[in-house]
Amino acid sequence: MLTRFMIQSILFGALFGLFLFWCGPSTAGGAGAASQLSAEVARVADSIHWLGHASVRIDAGGLVVYIDPWQLGGEPKKADLVLITHDHRDHCSPEDVEAVFREGTEIVTIAAAAEKLPGKPVQIVTPGDKITVKGLSIEAVPAYNLNKFRSPGVPFHPKEALHVGFVVTLDGVRIYHSGDTDCIPEMKDVRADIVLLPVSGKYVMTAEEAVKAVEILRPALAIPMHVGRGIGSPEDAERFRELSPLPVRVLPME
Ligand SMILES: [Zn+2]
Repeated sequence: MLTRFMIQSILFGALFGLFLFWCGPSTAGGAGAASQLSAEVARVADSIHWLGHASVRIDAGGLVVYIDPWQLGGEPKKADLVLITHDHRDHCSPEDVEAVFREGTEIVTIAAAAEKLPGKPVQIVTPGDKITVKGLSIEAVPAYNLNKFRSPGVPFHPKEALHVGFVVTLDGVRIYHSGDTDCIPEMKDVRADIVLLPVSGKYVMTAEEAVKAVEILRPALAIPMHVGRGIGSPEDAERFRELSPLPVRVLPME
């Protein structure tokens, strides 16, 4: 026969169990989840190879995609797609484009950079364009300086030059390569899972400014770049990682 005490104990135990069920540690959502990448983002992040400076190769979506190939060593993989953010020689390098080019390679860039690549199949974009190439969604977003000047009043990357960054979607994951830019207001409209941001200062964002960009972009993962080839140092990338409130992966230079 159940005593009143036993019934009370059973009821209390059941209620306590329910409390634990509702209030115990959750496995999804919340601040703790920010440091854990979804399987899709983790897989695409692992396919990003940093080749020094702003140069990257992404092997995802069944394609080989280069962004701003420059000073590639050895025998680089051939490209399905080359994205070039602007015409400066450390981003638009005809020799490096030649090194990765094969029949069928498509190039997407701005008009000023296309002029440096005569005879190549180039799709020209301006900031705001959204195109599909080889089944990939590619968005061109503005890239320019707010406070980095070549001479008084003349920025290294003027807004009127119509330089771009790219948001490319690979295997359902949105990757943003910002190009050469400061932390500009348009970043609030960029949606991306993985962001590649310059951190060297001088011509582009400093590490501290890149942290501000990360706070606006809120990606699952940020990767620092625009260091390692004489402009900016690995310490800039490390400082960015230490200061960022969101996950950062400093890639080895390949
Ligand atoms: Zn530049």
